[in-house]
Amino acid sequence: MRLHAEYAWLPGAAEPSRDVLIEVADGRFGAVTAGVPAPAGARRLPGVTLPGLANAHSHAFHRALRGRTHGGRGDFWSWREQMYAVADRLDPQRYLALARAVYAEMALAGITCVGEFHYLHHDRDGGRYADANAMSEALVAAAAQAGIRITLLDTCYLSAGVDGTPLTGAQRRFGDGDADRWAQRVDAFAPAGGHVRVGAAVHSVRAVPAAQLPVVAAWARERDAPLHLHLSEQPAENEACQAAYGRSPAELLADAGVLGPRTTAVHATHLGDTDVRLLGTSRTGVCFCPTTERDLADGIGPAPQLAAAGSPLSLGSDSHAVIDPFEEARGLELDERLRSRVRGTFTAAELLSAASRAGHEALGWSDAGGIATGQRADLVTVALDRVRTAGVPPTGVLFAAGAADVTDVLVDGRPVVTAGVHATVDVAAELGAAISAVTR
Ligand SMILES: [Zn+2]
Repeated sequence: MRLHAEYAWLPGAAEPSRDVLIEVADGRFGAVTAGVPAPAGARRLPGVTLPGLANAHSHAFHRALRGRTHGGRGDFWSWREQMYAVADRLDPQRYLALARAVYAEMALAGITCVGEFHYLHHDRDGGRYADANAMSEALVAAAAQAGIRITLLDTCYLSAGVDGTPLTGAQRRFGDGDADRWAQRVDAFAPAGGHVRVGAAVHSVRAVPAAQLPVVAAWARERDAPLHLHLSEQPAENEACQAAYGRSPAELLADAGVLGPRTTAVHATHLGDTDVRLLGTSRTGVCFCPTTERDLADGIGPAPQLAAAGSPLSLGSDSHAVIDPFEEARGLELDERLRSRVRGTFTAAELLSAASRAGHEALGWSDAGGIATGQRADLVTVALDRVRTAGVPPTGVLFAAGAADVTDVLVDGRPVVTAGVHATVDVAAELGAAISAVTR
C-alpha cells in the first residue's frame, strides 16, 4: 500500500513535512519520503497525518460515568463511590461490550494503543471466575474487535488503605489476597494475538502494602514488562503514607525497587522536590491525565520539573470524562500556563511526542509512535478543512483540532477508521447500549 500525505509529522521534526510518500507492507512502514509528488495509485491523505497516538492510562469502565458525576460538589472520594456502583454491575460479557465500544471511541479519536490499568478481576463476592482471568480476556478481545493494540496492565490491589485495611464491598472484586497469588494468576494469563502485551501495575501505595511491593516489581523486572502505578494523586495519600511509613509515596516506591525506566507513575500531582528527583534520576516515566485531573479537582502536577529531571512524559484519558488525545496534549501545556503564568513551556512537537512516542514506550511498544521505516504502520490523519481547523497551519493541529477532526486511522497497516467512520463498530449505538446495561 502506498499513501501520500499532504502533510505528515515525522520523528524529531519541529513541524509537519509536506507531500510525504509512505509505503506500508506487512503492518510496517517501508520507505518514508518527504517532498515528492503523489505517484499514480497512491492513496491521498489530505490534512495532517500524525503517528499513532497512545492512551497510556485507561480504566475502560469509567466511561459509563461520563456526564453522571461532574455536576455539583464532591471530590475524588465521592466520585469513587459512584464508580464502585458501576463496577458492581459488570461481568465479563458486559465488560466486553462496554470496552469494545470505549476502545472504538478511542480509535475514532486517533488512539492506536491503550494501556488498560485493570483491577476489576473477580466476581461480585470477590471469588475467582472459573477462568480467573476472564475479565482480562474480555478486555483483550474488546481491543481486538475495536482494532487497536492493548497493554493489559494487570493491577495488584490488596488493601483498602495504607494501614492494610482489608477490602470490603465492591473492592473485594479487585483483590488477589497477596502479591504472590496476584503473580500466579497473571502468569496463567497468556492471551493470543499480536495486538496485546501484558504488564503489571501497583494500584497505589494505598492498595499494596510496602512488604508486597518488591514482589510486583520483581515480576515486571523478570519479564521486562511495563510497570505502572498511581502516584500522589491526592494529598490524603501522601499524608497517610507519611503517617504509616515516615516517607512519601515516591520515597517508599524507590526503596522497594519499583522505580526505573520500565515504570510509569500516573498523575504524580502532589510531589516534593525529592520525589521529582527520585522519579527523574531513575528515568521513571510520568503519565499526566489532564482532563481527569481537572474533572476530579486533583490539582496540576510539576510537568516541566519532571521532564527536566529526566522523566519522559506520556498522556492518558484515565476516567474518560473526555476521550480526546488532542485535549490531553494541549492540556499538558495549558494547565502549566495556569500554574506558572508562563506560556510556551512545551513545544507542539514535544506535546505530540508525549501523545505518541512516549506513550507507546510507556506501554512496552518501542517500535510504534513514529512515522519511520521499520516502525509499526500506525497513522492518524486530521482534517484541515473543518470548522475548528480551517485556516489552521499544520503545526497548530494539537492546539486547534479535536477528536472529531480525525478522518483516517491505520493500526498496524489496517484501516480502522475511514472518513471518520469506524470499520466495524457502530460506536455511539454500542456505547449507549453497553452503558445503559450497567447504569440502570
Ligand atoms: Zn487511574
